[in-house]
Amino acid sequence: MNRAPTWVGACLVVTALASGFVGESRLTRFEFSQPHMGTLFRIVLYAPDAEAARAASDAAFQRIAEMDNAMSDYKPTSELMQLCARAGGSPVAVSDDLFRVLAAAQDLAERSDGAFDVTVGPVVRLWRRARRRHEGPDPERLSKALELVGYQKLRLDPAARTVQLLKPGMLLDLGGIAKGYAADEALATLKRYGIESALVAGGGDIAVGSAPPGKAGWRIAIASPEPPGIANPKSKIQNLLLRDAAVSTSGDAEQHVEIGGVRYSHIVNPKTGVALTGRSSVTVVARNCTTSDGLATVVSVLGLERGLELVKAAPGAGVLFVKETAQGVRSWKLRFPSAGGSRITVAQANPKSKGKGQRPEVKKAPL
Ligand code: ADP
Ligand code: MG
Repeated sequence: MNRAPTWVGACLVVTALASGFVGESRLTRFEFSQPHMGTLFRIVLYAPDAEAARAASDAAFQRIAEMDNAMSDYKPTSELMQLCARAGGSPVAVSDDLFRVLAAAQDLAERSDGAFDVTVGPVVRLWRRARRRHEGPDPERLSKALELVGYQKLRLDPAARTVQLLKPGMLLDLGGIAKGYAADEALATLKRYGIESALVAGGGDIAVGSAPPGKAGWRIAIASPEPPGIANPKSKIQNLLLRDAAVSTSGDAEQHVEIGGVRYSHIVNPKTGVALTGRSSVTVVARNCTTSDGLATVVSVLGLERGLELVKAAPGAGVLFVKETAQGVRSWKLRFPSAGGSRITVAQANPKSKGKGQRPEVKKAPL
C-alpha cells in the first residue's frame, strides 16, 4: 500500500467546541478513535456524560470490528473469504450484514453497467502485487483474472438470503463500499444508545447524524483541489455543513503506484482490468455512507460525463469531481454542496456572501 500525501480529499474540521443544551439536558462533546478496516475510525458525539459516551462509542466500534471480521478480504477467516472459498459451488447462506452490502453492491453494479463490481477481487490482487513490486501485472495473468470478473457471476437470493459465486476461483472485494456501510452501522448503533448528534469517520468516508447542539450541521472540509506546492492551498477548501447525511471521497491520492512514469490508482476498471490513471478525486454527498462510498468509487471509474449522470439519477446525491487536465486542475459540481432531499440538509459555509462572523445559512435544496 502506497500512501502519498493527500492533494485532495475529504477531511474533517472540528467545529463544535463547546457543550450545548438540547431540551433540558446538557450535552458534552466527546471524541474517540480506533484503527479498523486498515484506517483510523473516528467518532465524535454529544452525550450527557462520559459514561454514556464511552458505552455508546464502545458499542459502535465493536460494530465496526464486526463488519471488518465479516467483510475483510485480508482476513482468511472472514465470512467473505469463507464464502469465496466456496466459489463454484452451491448457494451459501450468509449474515444479514454481508447480504445487505452485497445487495447494495449489485444494485450499483447494475446501475453502472458493471463499472462498480465487487467481483474485481482477482484483478485487484494482481494490482496490489504490482504496487508492492513496482511493476505492472503480467498481461496473461490479468486476462485469466478477468475471466473471473463480472457481477452477473454473483447471484443473490433475497428470499433464502443466499449467495452463489458461479465460477471457482472468484474473489469478492468489498473495499469500495464496506467502510461506508460500517460507518452507517456505527451511527445506527450510537442512535440505539440514545446518541443523536454524532459523526463517524473512517478515512474518506464520513456519516453524520443530527447536528451538534445549537449548530446547523457538522462542518466538513473538502481539502484543496490543487496539486501540492501552490502558494495558498487553503484557498480552495470547501466547507460542507451536513446532518443526517454522508460524504465520501475516492481518488488516487492515498493509494497509488507509479510504474514506468504512469500513476495507477487502487481503483480498477472491471471491464479492462486496468487500474485507473490520471489524477482525480471524487467527493459524493448522499443520504447514507454506503451510497456515498460506492458512488464515489464508481464515479471515479465512469469518469466525468457518465459519472455525473449516475449521480444525477441517485436521489439526494451530489458530487464534486476534481481532475488534473492539460489545462491544470479543474473541478465540476453537481448538486454539490447543495445536495437535497428530505433528510439531507447541506449548507455551504461561505463567509464572504454572509458577512464576517455570521453563521452560514442552511438551505434545503430540492431533489
Ligand atoms: P478507499 O478504499 O480509499 O476509501 P474506495 O472507496 O474508492 O477508496 O475503494 C477502493 C477499493 O475498492 C479498492 O482498493 C478495491 O478494493 C475496490 N475496488 C477497486 N476497483 C473497484 C471497482 N471497479 N468496483 C468496486 N470496487 C472496486
Ligand atoms: Mg468507495
